[in-house]
Amino acid sequence: MGDRIYLSSPHMSDEGYEMQYIKEAFDTNWIAPLGKNVNEFENELAAMVGAKSAAALSSGTAAIHLALKAAGVGAGDIVLCQSLTFSATANSIIYQNAIPVFIDSDFETWNMSPVALEKAFEKYPNAKAVLVVHLYGLSADMDKIMEICNEHNAVVIEDAAESLGSYYKGKYTGTFGEYGVFSFNGNKIITTSGGGMLVSHNEEKINKVRFWATQARDQARHYQHSELGFNYRMSNIVAGIGRGQLKVLDQRIAKKKYIFDFYKRELGSLEGVEFMPINEWNEPNYWLSCITLSGQVRPLDIMEALEKENIESRPIWKPMHLQPFFAEYDYIGGDESKKLFENGVCLPSDTKMTDEDLSRVCDVIKGLWVKEKAYKEIASNY
Ligand SMILES: *Cc1c(COP(=O)(O)O)cnc(C)c1O
Repeated sequence: MGDRIYLSSPHMSDEGYEMQYIKEAFDTNWIAPLGKNVNEFENELAAMVGAKSAAALSSGTAAIHLALKAAGVGAGDIVLCQSLTFSATANSIIYQNAIPVFIDSDFETWNMSPVALEKAFEKYPNAKAVLVVHLYGLSADMDKIMEICNEHNAVVIEDAAESLGSYYKGKYTGTFGEYGVFSFNGNKIITTSGGGMLVSHNEEKINKVRFWATQARDQARHYQHSELGFNYRMSNIVAGIGRGQLKVLDQRIAKKKYIFDFYKRELGSLEGVEFMPINEWNEPNYWLSCITLSGQVRPLDIMEALEKENIESRPIWKPMHLQPFFAEYDYIGGDESKKLFENGVCLPSDTKMTDEDLSRVCDVIKGLWVKEKAYKEIASNY
């Protein structure tokens, strides 16, 4: 059996940038607290995406949590949240004792449906915030979503955990709403082993987030606290990895696109295979290459056949309104997100893959269609 092919694994720079920043922190004994790498990582990322300021945090989840808190979301508030996503998007709503209302996706973007969002505001005109996600590096239709949210005075939080480096109409995802969230978890397009970033044009709010994230210590010699605090800051070592990774983000995006184009060329003509939608206003980071299936070959067939060959793949996220934990909450929309979940597969999109690796993946998948055709021929002979 061939070597393991991963969905998306950590890929440090060939140049060793990450180690240089870590070494600098070691040499100056700036292991903690905070320090230069944290400040510079915040500055560099904010400058890159075009946000006014950024707070480096321990995870993307922590960034979503503090974005909700900064947006003033508290007990009993309604938050309209994209249903098709990873659970971390929705969990923080519960941390704040707020109430999620889940919103369907559309097939055009795979992200929040503006039509369903409108409907949700009809039912919940006082919804405090909207959590929109840019899945797999695809962008939601932000113009429409911003327009609807502005009309209803709802704070927009973009979960851009999967879409660092993706553009919507020439502007980076994560910079349209009041808050944008990025993740540097192990399988994201760049990683710090674990970590997250909250960006905003509202510098005051970002300062407040840094305060909450370091245990909400008031300015006093003794330990004084007037607010609830969290231990959510990123470490100076971890931030060093992030600074190094940021230097190779463009390389990673180029390779992710190469992987997508390879699959499209090799698998695009298979009956019933459709690739994730690339809209003309969207320049994705192609974090994962995803397909949907409408023929005889099902997602499980592909995932099992790949696993047999030591190749990792996974289904599309299971929508939150179908999760046992969130079953009690309202859901607005049809069954688009459910269909995407039932018919979708995320193909291995590891930037360390060679052309041989990519061919190995494609051969396994194409083999399922050859088998399917052979069955049909046998059947037609009877
Ligand atoms: C990874 C991810 C998160 C969470 O980020 P962590 O850094 O792992 O906490 C949130 N939302 C989405 C859509 C993600 O993919």
